[in-house]
Amino acid sequence: MAKIIRSLRAKKSGVPSVPKKVAKKAIKATSKPAAKKSLKPKPWTPAEVYEAFSRFRKANPEPKGELEHLNPYTLLVAVVLSAQATDAGVNKATRTLFAVADTPEKMLELGEEKVREYIKTIGLYRNKAKNVIALSEKLIAEFGGEVPRTRAEIETLPGAGRKTANVVLNMAYGEHTMAVDTHVFRVGNRTGLAPGNTPLEVELGLEKVIPSEFMLHAHHWLILHGRYTCLARKPRCEVCLINDLCRWPEKTV
Ligand code: SF4
Repeated sequence: MAKIIRSLRAKKSGVPSVPKKVAKKAIKATSKPAAKKSLKPKPWTPAEVYEAFSRFRKANPEPKGELEHLNPYTLLVAVVLSAQATDAGVNKATRTLFAVADTPEKMLELGEEKVREYIKTIGLYRNKAKNVIALSEKLIAEFGGEVPRTRAEIETLPGAGRKTANVVLNMAYGEHTMAVDTHVFRVGNRTGLAPGNTPLEVELGLEKVIPSEFMLHAHHWLILHGRYTCLARKPRCEVCLINDLCRWPEKTV
């Protein structure tokens, strides 16, 4: 188990994707194999969900994402760069990059080679530089240089998938989307709020149970909860705001 959890933690990053193999292990690590009948946690009642998100809201009324950006375009680029990288690592590179290129036009002017130089401290930087240039070209050619406002359109951009689209729609345009990264995936499963074998299952499950009034910030509350409290290797159950509601059989309180 420790090995599995260590492996999960090693994959921790800002807004990372959840590979299928990791997803399966995460589910396994959140259940007690012996308890045949109790493998499925008792679903949360609407009152419990409301209570949990009321507590998150009270503790942090205006949660913010940790990826630095200046506008929807730089947010999109930052999210694309954050795959399998930490927010801190991405911010370090984008601070200087965005100072010279905060629009698709300026990014194209800079060129792939120079973008590569700016982001060379980030994993997979060669491919990411290619994607940043390609998505900038596409934004100019097909969307008037603006980041589109639908998930389907954002998903057509090089390097951008469903999770990227959900982050951009939520943070740039205030849509009630739920981006499921490794933290949200773990919290959704462990707590029993929205168990699922894939990020999409967890996303749809969370959208179904979380009341609309919390959906604008729910994504950030869950990410921050997973990043700072419900840690992969050693969850801090003793200081957890929702430890009385959490369904994880291995919680320590
Ligand atoms: S009680 Fe523990 S396992 Fe449950 S959500 Fe809180 S930190 Fe995570």
